[in-house]
Amino acid sequence: MALTGLQIQKLLPKTNCKECGSNTCLAFAMKLSAKKADLSECPYASDEAKQVLGAASEPPVKGIALGDKGQVKLGEETVLFRHEKTFVNQTALAVNINDTDAPAGIDQALTTIKDYMLVRVGQELRLDMVAVTQKGADPAAFVALATKAWQTAARPLVLRSSDPKALAAAADAVKGSRSLICCPTPAAAPDLAAVAKENNHALAITAPDLDQLAALADFLKQGGFNDLVLQFQTHSLAEQFQTGSIARRAALQDSCKATGYPTVRFIESDDLLDVVAEAVTEINKYGGILVLPAFDAALLASLMTLRLNIYTDPQKPIQVEPKVYPIGEPGPDSPVFVTTNFSLTYFIVSGEIENSGISAWLLVPECEGLSVLTAWAAGKFSGATIGKFAKEIDLDGQVTSRQIIIPGYVAQISGELEESMPGWKVLVGPQEAGDLESFIKTRLATAG
Ligand code: SF4
Repeated sequence: MALTGLQIQKLLPKTNCKECGSNTCLAFAMKLSAKKADLSECPYASDEAKQVLGAASEPPVKGIALGDKGQVKLGEETVLFRHEKTFVNQTALAVNINDTDAPAGIDQALTTIKDYMLVRVGQELRLDMVAVTQKGADPAAFVALATKAWQTAARPLVLRSSDPKALAAAADAVKGSRSLICCPTPAAAPDLAAVAKENNHALAITAPDLDQLAALADFLKQGGFNDLVLQFQTHSLAEQFQTGSIARRAALQDSCKATGYPTVRFIESDDLLDVVAEAVTEINKYGGILVLPAFDAALLASLMTLRLNIYTDPQKPIQVEPKVYPIGEPGPDSPVFVTTNFSLTYFIVSGEIENSGISAWLLVPECEGLSVLTAWAAGKFSGATIGKFAKEIDLDGQVTSRQIIIPGYVAQISGELEESMPGWKVLVGPQEAGDLESFIKTRLATAG
C-alpha cells in the first residue's frame, strides 16, 4: 500500500539538511509519496527506511520472469481495471502436450508451437510456453518429453504431474529453462519449493480454497521461497472468474501479499465453445498463464488479437514512425497517399494499396498515433499540418509526382492542403480503406 508523506517522514532522519534538494525532510517525504523523488537522493536514509519504502513500492502482484532469458514476464499489475492506467504483463499463452500423445503428433506440435507467429499491427505475436503433462505411468517418459519440449520449442515449460518425484526429475532435466513446476498438492509444496529453488524455476501451488492457498503462499514465503504462481481449484467458469477477482482485489485494495501472485489455468475441455469462453475470461480478467488443451490456429488468432487489445497501454496508441513509406517499389512519379501514424490505420491502408498491385508512396505525418477522424478532430491531421510535414521531410525533393490522395473522411481539408502544398493536386480517396483497391483501379487510373 502506498505510504503518505507523513508516514514516510517518520522514517527519515528529520535533520532538514537539504542535501536531497528539498528544504525539509517533510517536503522530501511528500515528493517520495507522490513518486516524484527517489529515496537514494537522501544520503542518510536508514536501512529501515529503505526496507519499508522498498516493500511499499513493490507492485501488489509480484513480478516473475520465466524463460532462460526472462522473456516471459508475469504479474507486476497495479490496477483492477485497464482504463485506470494499464495492465502490465500480458497473459502468457501455452499449448499442452501429454506424454501419452503419439510421438509423431508430439514432434509436429512442438515444431508448430515454436514456429507459430501472427503479425498484427506490425507486431509479431507468438506462443510463450509449452505445457508438458504426465498422463502415463512412466516418469522417465515425462522427463524425456520435458527435455525434448524445451530443446525443440525453445520456450519455458509448464510441468504438470501428480507425482512430485517425476516433477523433481523433470525440473532437474530442464534446469536453465526457468520454467514453472505445478505442485499437485499442498503437502508436496515445501519439497517442490526446494526443488524449484535449487533449479531456478517458479512453483505453482494449489489448495482447496483461496484462504488455504493464501496461507500456503505465506508459509512458503516465510520459508524463503517466493517465486510463486497460484492455481485455483475451481469447478466452473463462474467460480474461476470470482476467485481470480477476489484474489486480485485482495492484493490491490487490501494489500494482501499472499494473494498477490500471477495465476496459471489449464483448460481441459474438448468443446471449442467452452475453451473460447474460458480463454477469453482469463485474458480479460487477470490470467497469468493460460494453458490451451491443443494447438488451434483459428482460436489462437482471435486470442492473440484480444490479448493485444487488452494489454496495449490505452494511454499510448500504437504508432508507426512518421515518414514517407514506399509501398511496393515506387518510382519518383508514383502516386502519394496520406494517412495518420496510428499503427492499425497504417497497416490497413498500406495493405490495401499493396493488394491493388500498384506501387506508391504513403505519407504518414506525426498524429500522435490517432486514427484519421480523431486526428482531424484534434487538429493534428489538417491541410496545414500535412503540408508542413511534407515540407519538413522534403517530399518535393523525393518524388516528382504531384498527386496526393487523402482519406475520404477528411475531404474538407483538400482546399487547405492544396494551399499548403503548392503545385500538388489533391484527390479525395474513399472513406474506407477496403475501397482503396477499386478506387486505385478506376479513379486513379483515369485521373490526370
Ligand atoms: Fe532530510 Fe535526507 Fe533530505 Fe537531509 S537529505 S533533508 S535528511 S530527507
